[in-house]
Amino acid sequence: LEPNHQFMVRLRLPGGIASTGQWLGLDALARRFAERGLRITTRQTIQLHGIRKPQLRACMQAIRDIGLDTIAACGDDSRGVICGFNPSSANVQREVASLARQTSQLLIPKTGAYREIWYGENPPYREQNEDPHYGETYLPRKFKVGYALPPSNDIDVYGQDLGFIAIADGDDLQGFNVVVGGGMGQLDTRDDSYPRLAELIGYVAAERAPDLALTIMGIQRDYGDRVDRHRARFKYTLDRLGMDNFNALLQERWGEALAPAKPYHFTHNGDRPGWQQDSEGLWHATLNIANGRVDGALQDQLQGFAQSFPGYIKLTTNQNLILAGIEPDLVETVQWRLDDLGLLPRLSATLQSAYSMACVALPTCGLAMAESERIMPELLQRFESTKARHGLDEVPITLRITGCPNGCARPYIAEIALTGRAPGLYNLYLGGGFHGERLNRLHASNVSIDQCFALIEPLLARFAAERNGSEHFGDFLLRSGLTTAIKHGSDPQRMIPV
Ligand code: SF4
Repeated sequence: LEPNHQFMVRLRLPGGIASTGQWLGLDALARRFAERGLRITTRQTIQLHGIRKPQLRACMQAIRDIGLDTIAACGDDSRGVICGFNPSSANVQREVASLARQTSQLLIPKTGAYREIWYGENPPYREQNEDPHYGETYLPRKFKVGYALPPSNDIDVYGQDLGFIAIADGDDLQGFNVVVGGGMGQLDTRDDSYPRLAELIGYVAAERAPDLALTIMGIQRDYGDRVDRHRARFKYTLDRLGMDNFNALLQERWGEALAPAKPYHFTHNGDRPGWQQDSEGLWHATLNIANGRVDGALQDQLQGFAQSFPGYIKLTTNQNLILAGIEPDLVETVQWRLDDLGLLPRLSATLQSAYSMACVALPTCGLAMAESERIMPELLQRFESTKARHGLDEVPITLRITGCPNGCARPYIAEIALTGRAPGLYNLYLGGGFHGERLNRLHASNVSIDQCFALIEPLLARFAAERNGSEHFGDFLLRSGLTTAIKHGSDPQRMIPV
């Protein structure tokens, strides 16, 4: 059976940016090697599923031939560096995207083993010190870095091991507020396993951000738990060390204390399907891609479109795709092409779908215990109808579902989240912050979708009747005492009676 073994290949795509040539290359790769087209992930990159073992090397070399790689896209190392989207300053967007690329380049392993294994290159580098930062033991676990551009928290910066929040004065990028220790994954079977929000520790000048990332990753390398793999994530390292000790360690290694954090403000989460113009006049069109799945007719449509598209592609952390960098005089042509190819409807999405996310789960993910992506259309429709019954059609509520507690769709910061427990059964979490700034709380365990709706609908009814102005659902639950704020899921009071 060995020739039939299948693999998933995940690309490294810092900031989610690819040229149209690379997109066409990836499309060709998927058609040649993968079983199910292209998949845009919640970390702003592409996965190819179903690569047969005998074709794996040829696939990796074909990825190299379009100028891309898969280095550190998996494993106990620095995972892909993500970068948000905010067209209000094209210059700031460009500089932050560039720093995200530099950070990725700095943080990836430098070993020649990758080239030796996948490209068959001769290894003169074997004589050299293998890797300046990872040594022989790499990191205790994966390490995720993200750059956010306020007022959008589209990347869920508080869910990152290390997050940088851009601070700009108009078009002038000045630096970043730094947050550390976010992470979504948890096990329902362990009390010492919990999601955690990243904490603000200070401010760093823009050009020093990649080096700071390397320094902080070094602390996790040296202090992370190498015995208990589950507790090896950076969030647990910080809780074990204590923030004061971590900050002292960082000051020692960085050579000085970080400057105090600067004021910033997030106003929204998620993507905005449709056209947006940036500060330099270029247009960007966000296409709604349900669950990031690019296959079948959609794959053909995007292939046709990319063949004459003059801009570039930017993937989002909400699994959508931005046609970026379109000159004003080409907008009409692009719009016509989208219409001609049947892509125009993807420039819009129902309000609620723009704030909803599902992980891949069954049948693709081996860890899934319940359905997620496959039931999202039905779940969404039902949720929209429920909201409509209470006049809440125009009120966005973040809704996320995953097939297990691992948290790939970042459920623990949604206003409503379902995480899979068993076929047809979920844990229901409520009360996360709309901007991803607050963890939600376990509201009910092992409930069916019907039971979830039976629990949620009365709360929506009260929300509709008692809402303060433009108050968000999660904030309302907190204000009215229907749930309470928690710092992280280890809080023993997180279960509330239902
Ligand atoms: Fe798989 Fe669980 Fe991640 Fe969903 S959350 S993709 S089921 S590991």
